[in-house]
Amino acid sequence: MYRGSPGWELLPERGMDGREDVRHVERALDSKALKVPVAGLMKKVFTRERFGADLDVGLGEQGLFERGHRGGLRLDLWLESSPDGIRVKGTLRGTMALECTRCLEEYRQEIDIRVDEFYRRPGIGAFTPEGRPLPREMEVPEEDEYLIEEETIDLNVLVNDAVILNLPIKHLCSPGCRGLCPHCGSNLNLGDCGCRVEDIDPRLEVLRKLLEEGD
Ligand SMILES: [Zn+2]
Ligand SMILES: [Zn+2]
Repeated sequence: MYRGSPGWELLPERGMDGREDVRHVERALDSKALKVPVAGLMKKVFTRERFGADLDVGLGEQGLFERGHRGGLRLDLWLESSPDGIRVKGTLRGTMALECTRCLEEYRQEIDIRVDEFYRRPGIGAFTPEGRPLPREMEVPEEDEYLIEEETIDLNVLVNDAVILNLPIKHLCSPGCRGLCPHCGSNLNLGDCGCRVEDIDPRLEVLRKLLEEGD
């Protein structure tokens, strides 16, 4: 089916219970389930805790966004505290929703990512050029780390970064996707639309017009 513009607002779909889901409007991933309080871990250095979450995500222009609540992507992590912060190690596996760039249909993309990231304690290793500790609000995480903020680690950014870096460059529902008919917009994977393919050489087209005018 042709949807007009390949916008990111997904059309309603049927859940496993047969009911129609509400429309999911694009927004950057901001799942409450991925904001993990770590006050306990920070107090007890060299301890670890397990953390897991089931996510259902799609891809929009702002990055990943939460779609519904049926899951599909499983985040499985160990959080290990050290004097400097918290190491986050584990896996992100399952499927997410992508839109095929040829036929615009939604399909499930397999994801299998190893996660190994560091959330730094604010105030550690951050100094002004004069050597004074940097005020918290001025702290910016280095490229290879995240910051613990208000005794919470926000895994939204981590999940977003990890998935986007690991997605294939081409988003295709299958390698042989036939795409949409340029004339009527039919999905050619579902069968031929019957449109006549007119592949006229533009030079011949000029000649044909001249002949028509001459009639
Ligand atoms: Zn396709
Ligand atoms: Zn057609």
